[in-house]
Amino acid sequence: MRTKIEATWLVGHAGGRHQLIRDGVVVYEGNRIVHAGKGFEGHVDRTIDAKGKLVAPGFIDTHVHSGHRASHRLITDTGRPMYYGQPFLEISVPKEGKIVKGDPRYLKHGDKGVEAAFQLNATFTVAELLRNGVTTFVEYGSQLSVQDALLAEVTRLGTRAYLAPGYDCGRWVGDDKGRLKRVRDDAMGLKGLETALQWIEKQDGAAGGRVRGILVPREVETSSIELLARTLEAANERKLPMATHAAYSVLEFHDVVHEHMKTPIELLHELGMLRPTLNIGHGNFISDNPNLNYANACDLALMGRARATISHCPINIVRRARTLDSWKQYQEAGVNISIGSDTYPRDMVMNMRTASYMGKITSHTYFAATAGEVFSAATLGGAISVGRDDLGRLAPGALADIIIIDLSGRNTLRYGPVRDPVKSVVECGVGDDVDTVIVDGKVCMEGGVIPGVDFAKLRNEAQTAAEQVWDTLAEWDPLGRTAEQACPWSFPLAPGK
Ligand SMILES: [Zn+2]
Repeated sequence: MRTKIEATWLVGHAGGRHQLIRDGVVVYEGNRIVHAGKGFEGHVDRTIDAKGKLVAPGFIDTHVHSGHRASHRLITDTGRPMYYGQPFLEISVPKEGKIVKGDPRYLKHGDKGVEAAFQLNATFTVAELLRNGVTTFVEYGSQLSVQDALLAEVTRLGTRAYLAPGYDCGRWVGDDKGRLKRVRDDAMGLKGLETALQWIEKQDGAAGGRVRGILVPREVETSSIELLARTLEAANERKLPMATHAAYSVLEFHDVVHEHMKTPIELLHELGMLRPTLNIGHGNFISDNPNLNYANACDLALMGRARATISHCPINIVRRARTLDSWKQYQEAGVNISIGSDTYPRDMVMNMRTASYMGKITSHTYFAATAGEVFSAATLGGAISVGRDDLGRLAPGALADIIIIDLSGRNTLRYGPVRDPVKSVVECGVGDDVDTVIVDGKVCMEGGVIPGVDFAKLRNEAQTAAEQVWDTLAEWDPLGRTAEQACPWSFPLAPGK
């Protein structure tokens, strides 16, 4: 079946970059695009009217941690200074002997209510991404059960995903004084890699090819050299993309320098891992970052020469008073910048806006981090990170992953008059402006409605689950704090029920 979408504005693709086409049409047959440009005379079976709308390639979110992220709500405007703004240390490090309550990433099959929790988290994640126009996402190393649940929801709801259980040689706990302590287990890391490879062996190509595998040694400082080397070997053998958190935290940077006498990026370089299909999350604390005071910095040059990818998660890091320093230098060095959500909301439009505005500030020029550049990062940058030239673009032969964005802001005044549709989306849009999502040639969302997903029900379930996360913080927090102590209300809470 051949479908034509007639758009007031179309993001087409020519000469290796996006191009704007006024009154454009995109035509797809089965799951592939056959035409994207001005007019189409051939026969079509149906036509979708996208007047007043922008038709664009679906977004690629290169940094997703599954779940409703209830715990992330506990660090807004607060946190422990000793973590230098690193979110996961704030919310994922339990008191030794305890587990993080309410986060399915730490639950096991057989625990009470665990199946429902896995289900809720997977549905919430995939539905939220889809609602915001994300047609492909990379899950950043959650455990096996989380991947299984995501696989089922990706299959059911129709998105594309890079999945596989992540692995590491250790984790962080809080000692009896609440100090960070690393528990190390190298054998566990290698076993984790085996599990990931088995999962990929079985599931790569599932859901009609929409699910693909990715190797995720979770963090560079919690991975042994052997684990990273074996990861690379497996990636080469099986042609798999890789992802790992590296150069993402002040503590991690110092730990790696202390242990290996080189920076996280130098370590990845020496192992031969730097490449476009290595997704480095977040890559903002590199030796070139003046805040680190590291002499003879060359991380940026190493990353740039290898065209390595970073998953830049603008909202997540800017909330922790950090950012990418600087967009312009990364781009000029040759780094492939992709965009990830990491935290809530999984809104690529908001992430593009934050990337653009912060990029201008840190580059000290409003010529930097343009709307076109952040839009390319959110589409083409993500495609490069997973080694695909058939995603992130609307061009003949590419897969039909298409979104339709309502330039009326869903009948509000938010956009005002629209001259340049991409600049308008980046400056005035929100993820909810995405009206229709097509993945692999199938309509997965129309008019903001995802068949089989009840947003109200999902919100209620997430709220109930989140209340439990907040109510049980004192049971595992290394300092034994309640949610109120860890994260004071925005204004004093009036007494009484
Ligand atoms: Zn992450």
